[in-house]
Amino acid sequence: MEYESYYFVKFQKYPKIVKKASDTAENNLLPKTGGKSRRVKSDTCQNLPKISQQRPRSKTTAGKTGDAKSLNKENPKQVRMTFGNTHMENADFGLNISRIHTGSGEENAHPGRGQITDFRGLLTNAIKGATSELSLNTLDCNPDPSERLLKPLSAFIGMNSEMRELAAVVSRDIYLHNPNIKWDDIIGLDAAKRLVKEAVVYPIRYPQLFTGILSPWKGLLLYGPPGTGKTLLAKAVATECKTTFFNISASTIVSKWRGDSEKLVRVLFELAHYHAPSTIFLDELESVMSQRGMAPGGEHEGSLRMKTELLVQMDGLARSEDLVFVLAASNLPWELDCAMLRRLEKRILVDLPSQDARKAMIYHWLPPVSNSQALELRTELDYNVLSQETEGYSGSDIKLVCREAAMRPVRKIFNTLEKYQSEDRNFPGIQLDTVTTEDFLDVLAHTKPSAKNLTKRYTAWQKEFESV
Ligand code: ADP
Repeated sequence: MEYESYYFVKFQKYPKIVKKASDTAENNLLPKTGGKSRRVKSDTCQNLPKISQQRPRSKTTAGKTGDAKSLNKENPKQVRMTFGNTHMENADFGLNISRIHTGSGEENAHPGRGQITDFRGLLTNAIKGATSELSLNTLDCNPDPSERLLKPLSAFIGMNSEMRELAAVVSRDIYLHNPNIKWDDIIGLDAAKRLVKEAVVYPIRYPQLFTGILSPWKGLLLYGPPGTGKTLLAKAVATECKTTFFNISASTIVSKWRGDSEKLVRVLFELAHYHAPSTIFLDELESVMSQRGMAPGGEHEGSLRMKTELLVQMDGLARSEDLVFVLAASNLPWELDCAMLRRLEKRILVDLPSQDARKAMIYHWLPPVSNSQALELRTELDYNVLSQETEGYSGSDIKLVCREAAMRPVRKIFNTLEKYQSEDRNFPGIQLDTVTTEDFLDVLAHTKPSAKNLTKRYTAWQKEFESV
């Protein structure tokens, strides 16, 4: 019941707890006759989980009618409580509730549910303590199918308290919620999408095809200018594959404590094996795995050990049968350590958007009519011209320009809005100006593309290092 209550407070719905009815003998112990005892059972137990703390029933008392009464005798401290229009007898806060009456008289209409809802306030405090434990995923709960179900960490091998702490740090970066990025949400990048699907999604979906020479890749590098959709691709992988997704940035791994980084890396990979199938997404890889010994003034010993550990773990993946996959992203691939590059067998350039992709992006963010805000926003844009003018801009640059262009007409009405003393937030009588091609071009003139000058370098690097 505690669990059910916790679950309700956290997820606003009740867990479905089922138990395989393997043993009919147990069923035979339940009272067969009607009367009070049967009602007690149907009132309280039908919709509640089985409570392990229930007093063991002896054969002699279990079948007798008046079960509830005998419990009353055993428990002189019984209380009668009223919560709203719900009365409880023999309530021990969550344990041994022997009877519940709802004021409405709907005794069979989910009696337990009404009562537990009323417990909320009381339970919240108790649960607060429990949730800190829960952040370590010690409890398996899977309230909605989009949420990831994790094995409890308590069973994670070799967990001394230090490792447990590190495991908790890494576990915070596991996507429990589905990031909900679909392939279609990523505009353009068709080749990159196809390659990522081939390398990560299909081996998990059709493992029987990926054996022998086709055994799945263990590491894939997405590289290219910033803001081109590398993280989006990784999120699409997380949405698409039902793997445990570790979203690791440099800040997770790089610890100021000497030696911790190395251990964090080890724990990360151990956890990934433990929760396999897993995908480890290492964002901004160059800040974790830059070329060894290249740091000015010599490299910190702790940092060197961390890099070595990462390489060792990557080698371990190659030998392991577990479905653990490393997906790395980097804006500066030429800064990556060569040994690491060798282990990221598949490398995919996520390039600046093509003209078609830019056109689709502008249309997506600034359609002719948009009702996504309180006031209707209209645009009159020459998408062809704008897509030509945005050459060299990344996806996130274009999004920024679209946002700024959309902001212009909104900015104009702020003065009027400020004068409006009305509580009515529907702004009657106010209309936004239309966003025009000139507006867009004007914004464009003030926003420089963030990565245009590096294009040549990416292509050169691609020629040298990209696999087919
Ligand atoms: P990075 O390549 O630096 O990881 P992101 O994937 O984080 O870039 O992209 C930053 C933002 O830019 C995204 O959240 C998205 O809004 C936008 N964006 C970039 N590329 C695309 C794309 N191809 N399709 C849709 N949105 C994109």
